[in-house]
Parts: sequence; structure tokens; C-alpha cells
Amino acid sequence: MLDKLSPQKIQYVTILGATGTIGLQTLDVISQHAERFAIFALAANSNVKGMYALCEKYQPSYAVMLQQSAATLLAAQLKSIGSSTVVLHGDAALCEISAHEQVDIVMAAIVGAAGLHPAMAAAKAGKRILLANKETLVMAGNLFMQAVADGGATLLPIDSEHNAIFQALPQNKQGSLASMGVKRVLLTASGGPFRNATIAELKAVSCAQALNHPNWVMGPKITIDSATLMNKGLEVIEAHWLFNALPEQIDVVVHPQSVIHSMVEYIDGSILAQLGNPDMRTPIAYGLAYPERLTSGVGSLDLLTTARLDFSAPDLVRFPCLRLAYHALNAGGSAPAILNAANEIAVAAFLAKKIGFMDIPQLIEQVLSVAHIEPIESIEQLVLIDGLARQSASVRVEALC
Ligand code: NDP
Ligand code: MG
Repeated sequence: MLDKLSPQKIQYVTILGATGTIGLQTLDVISQHAERFAIFALAANSNVKGMYALCEKYQPSYAVMLQQSAATLLAAQLKSIGSSTVVLHGDAALCEISAHEQVDIVMAAIVGAAGLHPAMAAAKAGKRILLANKETLVMAGNLFMQAVADGGATLLPIDSEHNAIFQALPQNKQGSLASMGVKRVLLTASGGPFRNATIAELKAVSCAQALNHPNWVMGPKITIDSATLMNKGLEVIEAHWLFNALPEQIDVVVHPQSVIHSMVEYIDGSILAQLGNPDMRTPIAYGLAYPERLTSGVGSLDLLTTARLDFSAPDLVRFPCLRLAYHALNAGGSAPAILNAANEIAVAAFLAKKIGFMDIPQLIEQVLSVAHIEPIESIEQLVLIDGLARQSASVRVEALC
């Protein structure tokens, strides 16, 4: 109700990754609150058809395609209907629409390392950042958090687990977890479609099977990450940076119903959890309106139908990606960026049917084991490290083909 009671200035939003799963759900929530939010810019990679439809509907000031050829095509199509949307292309344009003075809110929902530069630009420009792109924190956690602090940005986690933890932490989140009386954070994991599979079954998993997530509708990369549990591993690293949490203060618990989105345990024995239907419009609405609440279109959780909540420990033997992510977090420096780069190459190779499901962790482990780990001091250095790790992973993919 608060949004109806407190008239306020329209907030202008840039959506990076507008044609993706998170981008479209963000547009869905914004459409329900046209009196509060307006679209300033939309961005995607190459999906001209999707962007054309969105530009026609939302009439943003800017539309950015990473690919120049896609931008040229989109511009011609929009011109033919008399649209006033300005079409730009490339990484620099993604950064411009993230840092533009007219923008209040940036939804960072590009998938993978490609989301890093525009998220950094939004941080430096002091925007309210709704961070879905976890890879930014995995790759460049120290640099990004520093940019958020220096730029005076407001960082709101959209990943459902981190959004849940953010909600369960005290309002004033200054200082260490210990100083807030927090013992640990518990990230819940659905366990993915192969929760009960044997190693032999995992080796034979097909792309179609891995793309069939039991609880969440998501883009292909994060769906594969969920099936290998790398998604949970990336989220452990994400939690480390977002909440200033030590590796030993971050636990993962498998919870197949995905009803509890994560929990915070306090030193007095209290555990606070956030529950709801598994629908990303809840954390998106939370990020858009924080500290107020907005309707999101998500229905009430029916506890009686849910009836039971199950929990178990993750199996690090069948799902080595989670172990590798903890290893990279403990190793520090460039290790998480190398883990992320190797994972992106391995997942793309699996989606292209070049390697098997269990080759994914094996390949990442090999890349990490030969990599030189060093402290991360600049984005330029990070880009080089990311490139080298991708090369190392690609060579291993070719060897497996
Ligand atoms: P999708 O694959 O559905 O969408 C990805 C979006 O990013 C598309 O708009 C795509 O454009 C765009 N994109 C891809 N590469 C580039 C690039 N190089 N430059 C510019 N734009 C690019 O992914 P999701 O929406 O599922 O996920 C987005 C991010 O949010 C990921 O980091 C994921 O981990 C995170 N996340 C997602 C959740 C979910 O429920 N989906 C939950 C929690 C986190 P195009 O259509 O042109 O290819
Ligand atoms: Mg998540």
C-alpha cells in the first residue's frame, strides 16, 4: 500500500540484459507501477526481435545492443515506425546508459563477465544498483565494492538468496557480521534436477535434461550452473563480498522446495528466514522500492499446499563445482575470476554439446590448478587474467572434443 500513499518523483531505470529472464521480469514489475518508474534505457546483446518489441512497448530514450550489426538492424526497424529511441552499440554505450545523469536505477542483469563494465560504471556514478549479475562480484568483488563505496551507490542484491539474507539482516548493516550478532548465513540450494543422481548418471546427463530446472525459470547459463551447483558456489563468493562474510560464516543447505530463499543465524540461536514462492519478481520489486514495499504480481505462498520443508547437506563429491568455489574463495586474489572464466567456457562448451556434464568441474579444476593466483588491483589486470583463463579453458575443451 505504501506506494499508493506516498507520491514521489518518477524513477528512471536502465535495464541491462532487458531481453533476458530477469530483464523481462523487471519490466513486468515496472509495468505494474507506471506512476513510479519509467524506462530510460534498455540493453541486450544481439536479440533484435526481442529488443524491437520492448522498444515499441516501452519507448526508452536509448536502446543499446552490444553487437553493431544488431544495432544497425534495430535502428532501421525503429526508424520505420517513427520511434524516437536512440540506438547505440558497444561496451562504452552500455557504460554510458548505466552512468547517465538522468538514470536513478540500474538493473544489472547481463549474464556473465560481460556485465562487469556497465555495473562498475553504475557504481562509480552512484546509482541504485539492482545486482542480478553475480559474476561481477565473483570476478571483481574488491574493486566493485570499493567503487560502490567511493561512488556513493546503493547496492541491492537481486539474487534470491542474497535478497533473502539482506532482508533478514538488521536494518543498519554497518560493520562485520559478528558485530551485528550474526553467527552465519545459510544459502539454500534447490539441488537442481540431479540432486539424487549417481556419478554414473551425472556423466550421462544431456543438455536438455540439465536445462530443465525443477523450480526456477532462468536463462541457459545459470540453469546449467544450478545443475552443477556452481551457481551456489558463485553465490558463496557473492555472499562473501555483499555481507562481509568469512568463508566459514557461509553455509549451503540443500532445500528442494525452494520456499526458504535463505537464512541468517544469530548468536542467540535465532534463525531468520525469508520465504515465498520461487518468483524473481519478489526480489526485483524489493530492490526497486527499498526500503518500501511494492506489489510484484507474485501470489501468496500457500503453506498448506507446501506442507513440508526438507533439508540436506550438499554432496561435494557428486557436485565438485561447489567445492571448487570454496577453494577459490579461500585462495583469494584472482582465483574466483579464473574459476568464473573457466566455468563460462565450460558451460558454453557443454551447451554446444562439445563436452560432458562432469567435464565441467574437471576442466575448471585443471585451469585453476595451473593458474598463477595474484592480487587483483585493477580492472585492466582483471581483463587480462580473465582472457588467459578463457584461453586455458578453451584449449582443454578442444582436447576433449
Ligand atoms: P538470460 O540468458 O535470460 O539473459 C541474459 C541477458 O543478457 C539477455 O538480455 C542478453 O541479450 C544479455 N546479454 C548477454 N550477453 C551480453 C553481452 N555481452 N552484452 C550485453 N548484453 C548481453 O539470463 P538471466 O536473465 O537468467 O540472468 C541474468 C543474470 O542474472 C545472470 O548473471 C544470472 O546469474 C543472474 N541471475 C538470474 C536469475 C534468474 O532467475 N534468471 C536469478 C539470480 C541471478 P540477448 O537476448 O541479446 O542475448
Ligand atoms: Mg540465486
